[in-house]
Amino acid sequence: MPRGLRTRFAPAPTGFLHLGHVANAAVTWRVARATGGSVVLRIEDHDRQRCRPVLETALLDDIEALGFVPDEPTLGSLRAGGPSAYRQSDNGASYETAVVLLDRVAAVYACDCSRTTFARWAAGHGHAWSGPGCPGGCATRRLDREARGVTWRVALGDGEEPWTDLVLGERAGTPSAGGDLPIRDRHGNWTYALCVVVDDLRHEIDLVIRGEDLVEATPAQVRLARLLGRVTPPRFLHHPLIRRPDGRKLSKADGATGIREPLAAGTSPSDLRRLAAEAIASA
Ligand code: GLU
Repeated sequence: MPRGLRTRFAPAPTGFLHLGHVANAAVTWRVARATGGSVVLRIEDHDRQRCRPVLETALLDDIEALGFVPDEPTLGSLRAGGPSAYRQSDNGASYETAVVLLDRVAAVYACDCSRTTFARWAAGHGHAWSGPGCPGGCATRRLDREARGVTWRVALGDGEEPWTDLVLGERAGTPSAGGDLPIRDRHGNWTYALCVVVDDLRHEIDLVIRGEDLVEATPAQVRLARLLGRVTPPRFLHHPLIRRPDGRKLSKADGATGIREPLAAGTSPSDLRRLAAEAIASA
């Protein structure tokens, strides 16, 4: 394991912390502490319709209650309420600047394809859309980017992107596996993919520790970072997910997997961190 890397814990305040987050945080802090690295905490509230300030407060409370201490920023500075470099909704200018850069090196275009457009295309062809573009051929239609309800996509191009995964080994994949990458959704929110890549760049993250459900998103993120000037991709560590008994991944809707109840019932924070880490080790 390389030493002295900067990693991050990046929850979205769309619900309460659940056991899956605790497992991710436990691995993140354990790896950072064992290798002389550091942990940046980032509030990923890019989705303005789904995120709530009260849920950010709850996240901070739960992170503190569990004993996870970020190296940057302090929990107090996030609680203070002023703008923070570590909260996505305060950093719109960074995402706007990224689009200006992307405009110079790639096609950023408005797309009016909906999920139904993709579903109809898949039904007609017997397989899902894959590769660059979108079913509506929007890259060449020159739709107005400022029109209401359009998604912005960036053409990431062909070929493969390789990356080093500290669990899965040397990996590579196609950046446009599901079409050109959405960077702004039809409600005007910057997307997770754009924000996470811009933020990992500006926070100088060189180790991304997250669940294996994001393996397939990785080639697009590596290519997007390259278009934004990143020469060496971060290293990745994709760990197994805690699954429900029926095999599905935990979600914020799974109230029973929250952490407040076990803490209130007397489970110690260190036992909860250990249980969560063991659950992914045995997954
Ligand atoms: N906010 C994302 C999530 O909670 C972070 C994913 C990532 O680590 O890239 O799923």
